[in-house]
Amino acid sequence: MSLRSIQVRLTLWYSASMTIGLVFFAGVMWFALKHRLVADIDERLADQVRGLQAVIDSEANANEHFVIEEETAEFSRELPEHTYVQLRDEAGRVLVANADKGVTIPIVGVSGYQTTELAGKPFRMFNSAIRHGGKVYGTAIVASLEDVEEIIHDFRNLLLLLIPGILGFSTFGGYWMSRRALAPVDGITQVAKSITVQNLSRRLEVPDTCDELQRMSEAWNEVLERLDGAVQKIVKFTADASHELRTPVAVIRAAAELSLRSDREPDQYKETLRIVEREAKRMTDLTESLLTLARMDSNIVDMPLASVDIGQLSTELVHHLDPVAADRGISIRTQYDPSRSIALANEPGIRRLILILLHNAIKYTSPGGDVLLSSVPGNGRLWITIRDSGEGIAPDHMPHIFERFYRADSARSTHEGAGLGLSIAKTIADIHGTKIEVSSAPGLGSSFTFSLYEGESFT
Ligand code: ADP
Repeated sequence: MSLRSIQVRLTLWYSASMTIGLVFFAGVMWFALKHRLVADIDERLADQVRGLQAVIDSEANANEHFVIEEETAEFSRELPEHTYVQLRDEAGRVLVANADKGVTIPIVGVSGYQTTELAGKPFRMFNSAIRHGGKVYGTAIVASLEDVEEIIHDFRNLLLLLIPGILGFSTFGGYWMSRRALAPVDGITQVAKSITVQNLSRRLEVPDTCDELQRMSEAWNEVLERLDGAVQKIVKFTADASHELRTPVAVIRAAAELSLRSDREPDQYKETLRIVEREAKRMTDLTESLLTLARMDSNIVDMPLASVDIGQLSTELVHHLDPVAADRGISIRTQYDPSRSIALANEPGIRRLILILLHNAIKYTSPGGDVLLSSVPGNGRLWITIRDSGEGIAPDHMPHIFERFYRADSARSTHEGAGLGLSIAKTIADIHGTKIEVSSAPGLGSSFTFSLYEGESFT
């Protein structure tokens, strides 16, 4: 049993509060009982004084030879056991003293109740006055408190016997209850300890108790679910990345081996070097994209927002890509309202996002087609659209195009790329708090739209 165990600590707290509660309860009961019993005796003593006064009054009327001392002594003899009377005259001399009963009652000047000791035993005394024949006599009636003391004593013994018993029983009950309540925690701990990256699909057992433990197990299972998903994504990402890198390396190796197999003409070596250059560029692009994604995933990339002139940026990008588009027989242009083209954005980030979408638009559009980069203000935002008249995206590919390394089959067979462009674009959009909406009709073209908050004009 260690103090580090919640079960032991709970039991100790429970026992401590139970002890305090019981001791308080016993104390209150003890005092209440004693008070009640003494109050009963006080009432009886007052009744007896009233009784003595009544007897004296009636006997004095009926008997002309009435002597108060005799009447009081007779009254005293009729009192219950261990109850005595003292009668004093106005001068304070004792007239009746129960000398026959062997008890000497002390003379007390003040009237009222008090507890005293007579012959070493506890007594309750009531001092009062009675009247007869125009005189006032002092009277004291005392009654033994022995019975009261005995009851109180018995009651105390009963409490001393019961309290440890109740405490022992409740401590055991508390221990048993906390043990029962916390039993699932040990089970959860065991399963949690056994979960590693290799078996992240394992789940904690959820106790059907509708309490904190059930909610905690459910919450942990949700955490495991998310971790499992994230780890699976990383594993897939690593496998896809390795696969993508393997292809250019294999091409370079094959080209080199072929060239080295026998002596070649200079043109053939040049062709081999061109292949090496092309594949090396593919690898550079791929590793750059991977690095960008890794940095964005780990929040290393800082993208502070500022006012960016989207109109000016669009003109610049379209101008930059015009030769590439012209090379493929595609016309590219931009459209925007110069008075409303400022947006709140990260310039390098948004430049990269638009470039990815423009590159794709050119790549997936056949010669003769056209690409439009437009920016339209509305609802406090600038709505930026990259629309092409290209091959479009089939509906079954649509939900996946933002996944890492995802490429439609047609793209895979006919166009260069690694399937990372849209993932990077999506992450940049996420950082800007916007979403890229896609609409596409196969054979007719696609359009990618996102929005940015309108920013302050520079002028
Ligand atoms: P990549 O272009 O390198 O294949 P992306 O992540 O940029 O990778 O795009 C993912 C896939 O989405 C592409 O393979 C292609 O099938 C589809 N796609 C993206 N943009 C367009 C577009 N403008 N027109 C048609 N298909 C597109």
